[in-house]
Amino acid sequence: MTFEALGLNTSIIKALTDAGYTKPTPVQEQAVPAAIAGKDLLVSSQTGSGKTAAFMLPSLHRLSALEPSAASRTHNQEMQAARARGERPRFKPAQPKMLVLTPTRELALQVTTNTDKYSVNLRRLKAVSILGGMPYPKQMQLLAKNPEILVATPGRLIDHMESGKIDFSQLEILVLDEADRMLDMGFIDDIEKIVEATPDTRQTMLFSATLDGVVGNMARRITKDPQIIQIMSAANKHENITQRVHFVDDLSHKNRLLDHLLRDDSLDQAVVFTATKRDADTIADRLNIAGFSAAALHGDMHQGARNRTLDSLRRGQVKVLVATDVAARGIDVPTITHVFNYDLPKFPEDYVHRIGRTGRAGRNGLAISLVNHAEGMNVKRIERFTKQLIPVNVIEGYEPKKSAPPRSTSRPGGWKPGDNRGGAKPGQRTFSKPNAPRRDGASGGGYKGSNPRSNDGARRSYGDR
Ligand code: ADP
Ligand code: MG
Repeated sequence: MTFEALGLNTSIIKALTDAGYTKPTPVQEQAVPAAIAGKDLLVSSQTGSGKTAAFMLPSLHRLSALEPSAASRTHNQEMQAARARGERPRFKPAQPKMLVLTPTRELALQVTTNTDKYSVNLRRLKAVSILGGMPYPKQMQLLAKNPEILVATPGRLIDHMESGKIDFSQLEILVLDEADRMLDMGFIDDIEKIVEATPDTRQTMLFSATLDGVVGNMARRITKDPQIIQIMSAANKHENITQRVHFVDDLSHKNRLLDHLLRDDSLDQAVVFTATKRDADTIADRLNIAGFSAAALHGDMHQGARNRTLDSLRRGQVKVLVATDVAARGIDVPTITHVFNYDLPKFPEDYVHRIGRTGRAGRNGLAISLVNHAEGMNVKRIERFTKQLIPVNVIEGYEPKKSAPPRSTSRPGGWKPGDNRGGAKPGQRTFSKPNAPRRDGASGGGYKGSNPRSNDGARRSYGDR
C-alpha cells in the first residue's frame, strides 16, 4: 500500500516523502480513505502506530480542497489592512476549520509539529497550539491570525471560548486525540461544552486506547454512524480463546442447547451474556431450577448485591453468571472456562470484550455464540471487526432444522489459515459428539416450555445500554 493509493494529494505525499515516510502504517491505511470520504471515525490502536498522521493527513487533504470562506477572507483582509495602516486591528474571534483536542500540552505541541511537517507544501493551512501555561498575549497573537487548525487542551480552550475569542461556527473537523486520557484527567464536562459549541455537520474523529465504557459512550454520542477501526495487538486478539457459533431455530432450541453445553465436562465456570437485564434475571432463575448454581449480574442491581455476586463467583459458589454487557465489564476470574453469547452484543467491540472474560491468566477458553438464523449478518460484522472467522458448530441431537446460512468463504482481511483456533475451516461445519449424556430424552434441556415469549430468537432489545 502506498500513500498515493490512499487518495492523498501530491503536495501532501511530497511532504511525507521528504519526512522519510515510505508507506502508511496499518491504522493510516484504514483511517485515511474513510476520513477523506468524510466518515466519522472511532479508532483504537497502540501507541506509536501513527495515529497523528491518520487523522491529520486526510484532514489536510480535505481542508486544502476547501475554498477559504468569504467570512474568513474578509476577516484576514481586515486584519491585514488595519496592520498596514499601522493600527492595532480590532480583534475578531478566530474561526478555525479544524480543532484537535489533546490531554496535555506536550501532546498538543507534538501534533502541531507533525502538522507543520505534513503541511509544508500547503501554505494556507496553519496549525496553532492553544495551551494552558502559555502567556495570554502570545495566544491572542496566534488567534488573531485566524489559523485554520487549532490544537488545544480542553481547559484553556474553554477560557478562550467563554471570552469570545474563538467562534466554532465554521468548524469542519473535530478530533479527540487520546480521548481516554482526557476523560481520566477529568475533562469530560469541558469536552461536552466544546463539542456543543461546534456545528452538527462537523466530521468527528476520536482516538483512544480503548473504546469501552465511558469513552465508548461519549464516542457514540458525539459521532454519527462512525467507522470503527481497531488495530489489535497480538495480546488482545484472544488467540487462546476458541470461538464457535451454533445456529438455533428458536428460543426453546437455544435454551436446550445452552443447557446441554453448560453440562460440558470441561466447564468449570461460565458467563452467559444476555441483551437485557430482564433476560439475565429470567435465565438465571431458569438455570437454577434446572440445577445449576446460577446468578444474575446487571446494572439494575445495587452495588452491594453486585459485589456479593462477584464474590460468590470468585469463590466458585456461583458456577454460571448470567450478565449484561454493562455489569460484566472487568470481570477477571481465571476459572471461567466458557463464555456464552445467549444474545449477540449490539456492538462488535463488545463481543471482543465479552469473550475476554475467559482465557484469562494465560489459560484457554471457549466462547460460544447461540445465534438465530436471522442474525447471520451480525456474526459477519463481528468477524469483519475481529478479522477472524468464527467456525459454525453443530452438535448431534441439537441440529438446527434450517441449515446454517451460507458463510462467507472469502477471508476477512488479515485472516490466515491457522489463525482459526476453532478447528473448522471457514464455511465448514464441525460435528462434535455430545460429551455428556442427555438426561431428558429428545426434548433436551430441563427448562423447556418455560419461556413466555414468542419463539423468534432474533429479538432487538438491548435494554441495558
Ligand atoms: P501514535 O499517536 O499512534 O502514538 P504518532 O502519530 O505519535 O503515534 O507516531 C509515532 C511515530 O511514527 C512518529 O515519530 C511519527 O513521525 C512516525 N510515523 C507515523 N506514520 C509513519 C509512517 N507512515 N512512516 C514512518 N513513520 C511514521
Ligand atoms: Mg498519538
